[in-house]
Amino acid sequence: MASRRILVTSALPYANGAIHLGHLVEYIQTDIWVRFQKMQGHEVYYVCADDTHGTAIMLRAEKEGITPEALIARVLQEHQRDFAGFNIAFDNYYTTHSEETRTLSSAFYERLKAAGLIDVKPVEQFYDPVKEMFLPDRFIKGECPKCGAKDQYGDSCEVCGSTYSPTDLKNPYSVVSGAKPVRKTSDHYFFKLSDPRCKTFLEKWTQEDEHLQPEARNKIREWFEQGLNDWDISRDAPYFGFEIPGAPGKYFYVWLDAPIGYLGSFRQLCDRTGLDYDSFVAAGSTAEMIHFIGKDILYFHALFWPAMLKFAGYRTPSQVYAHGFLTVNGEKMSKSRGTFITAESYIEQGLNPEWLRYYYAAKLGAAMEDIDLNLDDFVARVNSDLVGKYVNIASRAAGFLTKRFGGKLLPVQPTLPQIHAVRAAAPGIAAFYDSREYGKALREIMHLVDETNAWIDGAKPWELARDASNDTRLHEVCSQVLNVFRLITVLLKPVLPKLASSVEAFLNTETLDWRSIDTLLAAGHQIQPYTHLMTRVDTKQIQALTAANAETLQPAAASPGKKKQEKTVELGAQIQPKDEQKGTDAAKPPSPPTPLPEGEGKFVAAEAATITIDDFSKIDLRIARIANAEHVEGADKLLKLTLDVGALGTKQVFAGIKSAYDPETLKGRLTVMVANLAPRKMKFGLSEGMVLAASGDAPGLFILSPDSGAEPGMKVK
Ligand SMILES: [Zn+2]
Repeated sequence: MASRRILVTSALPYANGAIHLGHLVEYIQTDIWVRFQKMQGHEVYYVCADDTHGTAIMLRAEKEGITPEALIARVLQEHQRDFAGFNIAFDNYYTTHSEETRTLSSAFYERLKAAGLIDVKPVEQFYDPVKEMFLPDRFIKGECPKCGAKDQYGDSCEVCGSTYSPTDLKNPYSVVSGAKPVRKTSDHYFFKLSDPRCKTFLEKWTQEDEHLQPEARNKIREWFEQGLNDWDISRDAPYFGFEIPGAPGKYFYVWLDAPIGYLGSFRQLCDRTGLDYDSFVAAGSTAEMIHFIGKDILYFHALFWPAMLKFAGYRTPSQVYAHGFLTVNGEKMSKSRGTFITAESYIEQGLNPEWLRYYYAAKLGAAMEDIDLNLDDFVARVNSDLVGKYVNIASRAAGFLTKRFGGKLLPVQPTLPQIHAVRAAAPGIAAFYDSREYGKALREIMHLVDETNAWIDGAKPWELARDASNDTRLHEVCSQVLNVFRLITVLLKPVLPKLASSVEAFLNTETLDWRSIDTLLAAGHQIQPYTHLMTRVDTKQIQALTAANAETLQPAAASPGKKKQEKTVELGAQIQPKDEQKGTDAAKPPSPPTPLPEGEGKFVAAEAATITIDDFSKIDLRIARIANAEHVEGADKLLKLTLDVGALGTKQVFAGIKSAYDPETLKGRLTVMVANLAPRKMKFGLSEGMVLAASGDAPGLFILSPDSGAEPGMKVK
């Protein structure tokens, strides 16, 4: 077979947060594919980089009181550590904040401009007059123009699901400063995707040529039907990124230079190693360029990126392979359930990264489907398949060989049915790896493993070992078993590189590649004493892992003085009675927590003053159904509740009950709310009331529930 030359990429992780198990689906998927192709003897380069630009990075660095450069340098180290921990073997890992990517971005822009594909148009956008910056959609909130839900992002409503432009929001405010944004016009640079040349090219590239999965092609056909819009590729200062040549104060939008970062990373690899960059990247290249991505960034990789490459005079991608998302135990990863698991914590808890590689591979196929990490199934499958079946093959033969025969092997006939079976299955398994059907590949391999164990059961080496007159037969069987084990290890090596390398050391064999299937260990070959190749997963390790990733639930009133700094930051998020905020009187016992996210809130103490029925009737208490409950990013104590109050509509309330409730358990419950409390603007959005909850001196917080039969909107009196 002719050797392939392949440049492979995984999507660039954003330099704004930790690598988690959801990210790892893609890197493990790509790494297995790359390792498989390298084992075939192909020339493969796997490159990636941190994606480092944009408003989010700029603001995050500002919040941490460091420069964006310092932030991205720190995150780069963390990401590289995490990838190394999971045996992701990049040939180059770089940053988009590099001279290579800057030079390439400018060159792309100049070439697209020369081709008449850059346009400048005035754009009216929201501008934060306090922060003096234009606001990205995600940094503006307001009322949904369709359903009126409060506190919705500038691009879409989480209540009714509609999408819109941020300028459509009612009563908008800046998430950065809280200020009311003003509309301001400025010139933006556009890549003219609507140009007939782009359309003609992309229709052929996406639909006729086989660059995309069938379901991706269908998705893109829908986008074509909606019409291709020009793409806004500029952002105004202040922005962390590359300034556009000849356009002072204008920066390339982060999504312009992110895919160019693939080439920037490859450029650096070529400069470092003397590899011929143009032979992979220039127009007419016969090498392959393959991008592994998540399905959420298909638009960028299947439309913008091929068009940018084409009209800037480069080669276009050979394949874009999109995968689905990860769920854990059938649900979205959740911080409260401890299933939002970081790569770092997985390693820190002492779990073997190859367990996860194996489990993901067993679930992965070529389609864009989501995959589920079921933690019970994870334990069962790893223990059964890897330890109970595969590793077991070696342990059943190795002891006898070492103890009885000095670790030396007898010659083995290639006609042995088990050896023949593995060799016969290898091409099909290779085809599954090549087409990213890892689940199917592993099923085939485990079938061979099962057959091998059944064959050993029949040969009964432990019985042969009882009688010295069977020594030759025992020696023969054990030599055969270890040869079969070596061949099966070749098949598993793309998924389990570390385990395979332990097997190479134990068998004292060469670095296994796909051609190793054609050879056997020679007569007299000496193996090393057997040591355990892999331990079982202990359910306790999984419990410790989810516990380590569960958000700390600390009683709100545990340390009234200590959280003071945080309280001033989390403006409006305080849930303690107001009088306690100024309390420096350490002798005073801590007051019980209260759910009131309510600055003016009078704490109803036991000795509350008498009121009249008229006073009481001023409070509009209503039955509310908790339509949605969710965590609030950056808030220690708050949950964001969306309340259905019947005829009064939908209200949003931030309640300080995070310490006591998992949001999932609240959804659908009825409770009681104060519906006529003056709305309060908080750091996280507008709170339009409060829910009632009981608490005493002991920790614990209990929201009220009406008796059955009560309906949302009913008055409580
Ligand atoms: Zn809406």
